[in-house]
Amino acid sequence: MMELRGLEKSYEGNPAIQNLSLSVMDNEYLTLLGPSGSGKSTLLRLIAGLEQPDDGSIQLEGEDLDGRPAYMRNLGFVQQKYALFPHMSVFDNVAFGLRYRQEDPLQDASEVHDRVSRILELVGLLGYEERMVGQLSGGQKQRVSLARTLVCEPKICLLDEPLGALDANLRERMAIELRRIRAALKVTFLHVTGNETEALAMGDRVVVLDKGRICQVAAPEEVFSAPTSIDVAKFLNAYNLFPGRGELDGFAYSGHLLPIKCDARQAHFYGIRYDHIRIITGNDDGAGFKAKFLASEFEGARIKYLFERPDGGVFEAEMHLGEGDPITLTPNEFYEVSWDPKEVLLFDTSGELLKSNARGEVAK
Ligand code: ADP
Ligand code: MG
Repeated sequence: MMELRGLEKSYEGNPAIQNLSLSVMDNEYLTLLGPSGSGKSTLLRLIAGLEQPDDGSIQLEGEDLDGRPAYMRNLGFVQQKYALFPHMSVFDNVAFGLRYRQEDPLQDASEVHDRVSRILELVGLLGYEERMVGQLSGGQKQRVSLARTLVCEPKICLLDEPLGALDANLRERMAIELRRIRAALKVTFLHVTGNETEALAMGDRVVVLDKGRICQVAAPEEVFSAPTSIDVAKFLNAYNLFPGRGELDGFAYSGHLLPIKCDARQAHFYGIRYDHIRIITGNDDGAGFKAKFLASEFEGARIKYLFERPDGGVFEAEMHLGEGDPITLTPNEFYEVSWDPKEVLLFDTSGELLKSNARGEVAK
């Protein structure tokens, strides 16, 4: 287990990591989600020992890592730009880590061969040993980079946007591979990403980071269905969020009274997920408002419908094709959009999720 306690790091007075505490379990896949500049790479560099925190501590299995140089931390780091040697073969790139590591370098040729072969098999590169790295595709380079890190059997593997450079198709395949490789090795992965779908799909737990602070740590389903703040809800890119004023029997938003199932007087934001919206083409059932249809986007297994919000923003509804046939709407026509008030999330003035949400749970 790794324990981060009260970590702080500033650059020229600008905080990059602020009072960050986190427990990382053994054998878990942890994803770290945050927008660009939120401190994700800084956090990995602090853990790896490439930079020193201004304050706070990092403990690995009960031992303080303070002052322990990077090469003695037994951590693997797959950096954003995979620094491979282009004129060396795949085998030599992977073996490099073993042969030249500062602590306990491995010189026995047959052992190097066995360990490199084992890891190349795991990442699906058996048969590529003699290829020059410069001749490989992006996805293959990514695998070499991963193999070179994993061959040293780190306790924790830090991955900085490992799928960022790959195209969409390959990214999905590599994502499945990464989960499989991690499970086979039983190491902990700390995988940094700016992509919400990736973070939710891959993590056993998701850590949401904003401006150097942790906003939420939870299982993906929980982050998705109950983001603890409006910032988290925004990153998820899955919620319509309306600013307004909560009342006893509704939420006042841009001339509409939106339905609620609880006392909403503390609420300042109203959130409803894209996939909870129904588009009413026949008789309306009154919960929601009329909105002008703008366009739809076909995204494989789902369709996104974009409407104009009463306050001028964009309102999104999402339909999964497994749940019915797509509907055809006419641009610039008005349609009634509606949802179940039970699915609504409410946030207070400071953007915190109100416990007394529409599911009728106890008041905060
Ligand atoms: P992320 O990886 O989430 O995009 P970073 O950790 O790279 O974010 O950066 C967090 C903040 O710290 C940013 O504001 C960035 O400009 C700043 N920062 C990161 N590294 C340095 C550095 N070496 N010198 C100065 N500022 C830095
Ligand atoms: Mg980064």
